[in-house]
Amino acid sequence: MAEPELVDVVVVGLGVGGEEVAGRLAEAGLTVVGVERDLVGGECPYWGCIPSKMMIRAANAIAEARRVDGLAGTAQVRPDWAPVAKRIREEATDTWDDTVAVERFTGKGGRFVRGSARLDGPGRVRVGERVFQARHGIVLGTGTKPSVPPVDGLADTPYWTNRQAIEVEELPESLLVLGGGAIGLELAQVFARFGVRVTVVEAADRVLAVEEPEASEVAAAALRADGVKIHTGVRAERVRHDGRGFTLHGADGAEFTGQRLLVVTGRRAHLDELGLDTVGVDAGQRYLAVDDRLRVTDGMWAVGDVTGEGAFTHVAMYQAGIVVADVLDCARRADGGPDASGTARVTGGAVSASGTTGPGAPAGAVPRADYRALPRVTFTDPEIGAVGLTERQARERGINVQVGLAELPSSARGWIHRSGNEGFVKLVADADQGVLIGATSVGPAGGEVLSGLVVAVHAAVPLARLRHMIYAYPTFHRAIEDALRHLR
Ligand SMILES: Cc1cc2nc3c(=O)[nH]c(=O)nc-3n(C[C@H](O)[C@H](O)[C@H](O)COP(=O)(O)OP(=O)(O)OC[C@H]3O[C@@H](n4cnc5c(N)ncnc54)[C@H](O)[C@@H]3O)c2cc1C
Repeated sequence: MAEPELVDVVVVGLGVGGEEVAGRLAEAGLTVVGVERDLVGGECPYWGCIPSKMMIRAANAIAEARRVDGLAGTAQVRPDWAPVAKRIREEATDTWDDTVAVERFTGKGGRFVRGSARLDGPGRVRVGERVFQARHGIVLGTGTKPSVPPVDGLADTPYWTNRQAIEVEELPESLLVLGGGAIGLELAQVFARFGVRVTVVEAADRVLAVEEPEASEVAAAALRADGVKIHTGVRAERVRHDGRGFTLHGADGAEFTGQRLLVVTGRRAHLDELGLDTVGVDAGQRYLAVDDRLRVTDGMWAVGDVTGEGAFTHVAMYQAGIVVADVLDCARRADGGPDASGTARVTGGAVSASGTTGPGAPAGAVPRADYRALPRVTFTDPEIGAVGLTERQARERGINVQVGLAELPSSARGWIHRSGNEGFVKLVADADQGVLIGATSVGPAGGEVLSGLVVAVHAAVPLARLRHMIYAYPTFHRAIEDALRHLR
């Protein structure tokens, strides 16, 4: 067996979360080995957020051009996928090459190892023949993979996941989308706007089932207006591929066909590959259970999607700040320095209580993770932004709930905007505490309008104060003021 190499920290998986942790710890002066088996940066820049939002930007430009009629004359649009595919290939992904990202990490002082890592006992990580012994800790940022349902015949077909959908150079004539969640709807709308005949099949009784029912209705109506066929309450039972196209059979006998089939039915962590048993951690969990400092066990942290706290890049980045602070704090104490409440400084930078970093920043208490005001945005047109609890979740918790809703089309800005003005602001308040505990903002800028609502939920701003502030006229966010008036 190879002699273990002693290092300070090993980070397994350099996706959004792992890359951030590894880079910042290396900048702070620790010896950090970062292991990645695929592309440094992970799902977000190569097959997720960034290329999908480039696709959405292009599809929305087409939709806006089609709205010229009746507002500003006439416009003729001839959609062409080639510039979109080119932009994804050349600008977003460097043709799925991570040279720049690897150099970004090594430029910060990190040591990069390409390969698949497994835990090999406490503090040890094995990558092929190489074994690393981590003095201060191991950070797991191994993300998720598509979760493909056990539908009869599906595994034997050339179905797409998000990866093939993002990499596509030539659009199919028709596309079946299995799964009406955020990713399914975003991609369905994009392809429909480029002329693909799209059918969405969803098992739940509505699309975007985790969001407010009003949001599901607006999203479904918007996609239908783009020509997307939506079938909810359909449990896929069987899939066949005859060499030219797919047929999906529902449990109720319904049949759907498409040249391509995109499966976007959620994602799951693959904990069984990580050697968790060698450190006494249950590999049978759905996600890696962590505490509010993202600790899995002593000397082991997890970051990002693998924690199951929200599969978003902003969650991975938020958690990364906490992990960095905690690892540095542990390293400081192991080296005989004061703990995070002391005044020690770490070479090259430290993390403050608020999670901010900077050379010589004073050390503070390690921040604890708080997901009460976790924002989420589905980037359909209209955008669906949400934060905190839905009305139903709040009622299920026995909270004395008040709800207020304001429709965008009847607001001044919505009326001015005219076509494409669908949306609303819905507020969920805790009447006893007099604060917002959840909100949904749907509209042309639903994700942007959300920011004020995130502050309100995060900081538990009293409703009275929210009612007595000034909202700029005529903005979309003025609907927040209307929704506050309707709270009951
Ligand atoms: C189509 C799509 C659109 C999305 N859009 C958005 C969006 O708009 N906004 C948003 O916030 N989020 C979005 N997401 C989610 C976002 O991409 C993820 O939340 C984010 O990538 C999670 O980062 P991560 O570091 O946890 O994991 P990942 O990015 O999945 O990275 C994990 C890395 O670990 C590596 N790895 C795994 N196991 C090992 C091992 N044993 N050894 C070595 N390496 C290993 C993997 O190769 C991978 O590179 C989207 C996702 C998809 C699929």
